[in-house]
Amino acid sequence: MVPGGYGSSSRKVIVDEGVCNLCRRVWHGIQKASLTFTQRLPRPGETLHGTEFRKGFGGKGANQCVAAAKLGASTAMVARLGNDSFCQDFLCILKNNKINTDHVHITNGVSSGMAQITVAESGENTIVIVPGANSILSVADVQQASEMIKMANVVVCQFETPVETTIEALKITKEGEGIAIVNAAPAITNLDPLVLKLSDIFCVNESEAESLTGMQVQSVEEAVVAVGKLLDKGCKQVIITLGASGAVFASQDNSVPVHVPTKKVKPIDSTGAGDMFVGGLAFYLAYYPELPMKEIVKRSCEVATVSVQKYGTQTSFPTKDDLPAELF
Ligand code: ATP
Repeated sequence: MVPGGYGSSSRKVIVDEGVCNLCRRVWHGIQKASLTFTQRLPRPGETLHGTEFRKGFGGKGANQCVAAAKLGASTAMVARLGNDSFCQDFLCILKNNKINTDHVHITNGVSSGMAQITVAESGENTIVIVPGANSILSVADVQQASEMIKMANVVVCQFETPVETTIEALKITKEGEGIAIVNAAPAITNLDPLVLKLSDIFCVNESEAESLTGMQVQSVEEAVVAVGKLLDKGCKQVIITLGASGAVFASQDNSVPVHVPTKKVKPIDSTGAGDMFVGGLAFYLAYYPELPMKEIVKRSCEVATVSVQKYGTQTSFPTKDDLPAELF
């Protein structure tokens, strides 16, 4: 989850104020990914020799936090890790990206979140996710971070940790002046209505929009209808990202959906594009609150589109220096 919302002129002052005041955006959801590449997927009980092994670091929460931090945002995470060999790697990555880890707790007797991914030459894959420590993030953990959350300009929540922690984070956000973004991912079908009521911006991709609306969402026209359905469910503001087609958004105040196209590029690896979009959205809402929503969505699309032109997830996220000056 994340907070955000100060103008760029106040950023320097905030950084000088000390650790707690650095926390302008907060996220949760951390996970390590082990990727093995093979000619074909193994059958049950079969052992195969693979061709390559790679490890990656993610979790939507961590990715989105790193994405915003790389753009220059002051960020913090509320999360849990297992007391295993990966937790130091995670902390190192977060610290290298200057992400506040005061509320990243380490737990004995449980693993860090893990995704075991096998990819065949055909592109077919199998994925096993073990939420591990993510599933024991508690309401008390979130409450412990309440002062930080209340000060945040933007708070971003995903569905990788227990829903009660998301609801608590959203409630605390309402006690401050921050904007609450809910990225309803991974996809779910039955959503607690409190999540909708407490979120300011509800952001999903095509398949998440399909799960929530029960309709097909594979074109701009279908996304326009789906945005309307999500507004009818009580969302204040909805964004559906559409891969190469950009995004569609609408709000209760201005219910005519707006399509924001993105630049045409040759994608190399679109993994994590959605997380880059959400990280960008949090960054622009926090640091450029004066911009119209259309411009904020356009810039978020643009930074995500830059990320699809490089391999990897967090490693493909651009920094301010990689981007044209007009985005800042
Ligand atoms: P992922 O699950 O791969 O992280 P996602 O499905 O959550 O992604 P998308 O809607 O695919 O999210 O992409 C988010 C944003 O990234 C889009 O709005 C767009 O700006 C950019 N993007 C993604 N794919 C492409 C592409 N092929 N060409 C240009 N931009 C892209």
